[in-house]
Amino acid sequence: MTETIRCYIGLGSNLNDPQAQVREALEQLAALADCELVAASSLYRSDPVGPQDQPDFINAVAELHTTLDAETLLDQLQALEQSHHRVRERYWGPRTLDLDILLYGNEQIDTERLCVPHRFMRERGFVLWPLAEIAPELILPDGTALSALLALCPMGTLEQIQL
Ligand code: ATP
Ligand code: CA
Ligand code: CA
Repeated sequence: MTETIRCYIGLGSNLNDPQAQVREALEQLAALADCELVAASSLYRSDPVGPQDQPDFINAVAELHTTLDAETLLDQLQALEQSHHRVRERYWGPRTLDLDILLYGNEQIDTERLCVPHRFMRERGFVLWPLAEIAPELILPDGTALSALLALCPMGTLEQIQL
């Protein structure tokens, strides 16, 4: 029997109605073959980096159980990203959706295409806080407790969006 792996996916958008992009992406994750969407965090808003004349960033984290291997999962996520790139018929806009594999079970992966745990997740509030909402007791593959990382990462301007 194929093993089911517990994964955490980071979602982000700052273009073309970011909240709608992320909500739609959550539905699309739920509809992926050989994947089960088990939990999704709230949406979180953070200020844009650099020029302020662009939409806020919206982020969320989803827990996905899958029998796909990590590279195949990445293929599926990249296909979803591509489906969100299109802003107008025949024109391709800037990226509107980012889907990162934060964790893939307890595996540590370092290939040309894939670095898991995601290389910057330990220092990103917009990853750690939504992750803590759905997996407060999480321990990273190297034994680090998520709670220890949170203690070093203040929420700052990160804001949980109330429904
Ligand atoms: P960041 O890594 O800082 O979050 P990004 O998400 O903007 O940057 P992308 O342009 O979306 O970067 O991705 C670049 C490449 O990163 C992808 O083509 C993919 O092969 C690779 N990659 C490595 N590790 C991962 C991972 N854990 N999840 C998703 N992509 C990954
Ligand atoms: Ca990213
Ligand atoms: Ca990415």
